[in-house]
Amino acid sequence: MDNDRICHGNKNTNNHITYLHKNNINAVTQTLSAGRHKKPPVIWLGTNTCAGDMLSLLNTLDPTYQSFISDMIDLRYDYLGGGSEGNSSMAILEETQRSCKGQYILIVEGSIPLASEGRYSIIGYRQGKPWTALDAVRELSVNARYVVAAGTCAAFGGIYAAAPNLSQSVSLQAVLDRQVINVPGCPINPEWMVGTLAYLVKGEVPALDNYQRPKLFFGNTVHDRCQRRSYFDNSLFAKTHGEPWCMYEIGCKGPSTYADCPDRQWNGEHVNWPVKANTPCIGCTSPEFIDGDVPFFEHSPDVKLPGIKLTANRFGIFTGAATAIGIGSHLAGSVLTGRLAQTIRDDFPRRKKTKALLRAIKAMRLGKHKKGKK
Ligand code: SF4
Repeated sequence: MDNDRICHGNKNTNNHITYLHKNNINAVTQTLSAGRHKKPPVIWLGTNTCAGDMLSLLNTLDPTYQSFISDMIDLRYDYLGGGSEGNSSMAILEETQRSCKGQYILIVEGSIPLASEGRYSIIGYRQGKPWTALDAVRELSVNARYVVAAGTCAAFGGIYAAAPNLSQSVSLQAVLDRQVINVPGCPINPEWMVGTLAYLVKGEVPALDNYQRPKLFFGNTVHDRCQRRSYFDNSLFAKTHGEPWCMYEIGCKGPSTYADCPDRQWNGEHVNWPVKANTPCIGCTSPEFIDGDVPFFEHSPDVKLPGIKLTANRFGIFTGAATAIGIGSHLAGSVLTGRLAQTIRDDFPRRKKTKALLRAIKAMRLGKHKKGKK
């Protein structure tokens, strides 16, 4: 059983949804019971966090949380739901670190505050002295087999690192000199974490992007797979909340946000996600979240369109008939200001077609200017 099947499940060809599937989690547990792999000890540490990621994880249905922690991993320490506290919970951390060298997975939820010697986040006390999150992640990561950042605060700093950032919070990677696998989200979709761990249980790191996010879940933009994409392509834009059209002009960050929310969806049984619930994507899996994404409900004029995909047909439309381009006021605005051209130059790999497209755009621009002169 390869890892892709473990995480993708049975592909639903209608929408390429990549559910985790019971059979596939069974595959993981079978390899565990066959002795080919051991259930890895896991420490789930909470630092500067609202606890949203652990709460979201509790909503996993396939596998259930109970199955996840009893069949797949050996959850030694959980800052939120763990049965111990005080000295006994500190003893668990120390014992795991000592007896499971090179075996345990350290998951950190939350950013790491640096101000006031790290005292904005304290994990516990040792000999009467506070053991800060900064000390804890540095120490616990040394003997960990893998280190995973759960949620955008741990992955990129997130809300705690937003201006004016009084606690001087930073990402986990900023304080560690080793690989951190980032599973961002505010909060995470439970399947992003369970799926990532399905790889790690087998001793493999999933393919990661430049921000160390598993491509399996963060390989496409929200915009790529959005159910309202056809409205964007046809220039049907909502002017206010509640309208059923594309919400790009009222602040949607889907074009610059990488996550599979439109396909995977949320609420346990994959029933909904922000755009479907009539609210723009706020870009919560992005490194620039949150300062780079506010105000949430205003159009961001400088948003890039890295995921823009011009299929042969659409490209034909572009080059064949400028008047039929149908890219509308927004896209035309991007064209005229050069934003789209720059984006395409940066991101669209097929240079030849890019040049043809840029020529078509130029022709359209010249046509407009000539019209204006008449
Ligand atoms: S801009 Fe937002 S609402 Fe519009 S198609 Fe893209 S992701 Fe969907």
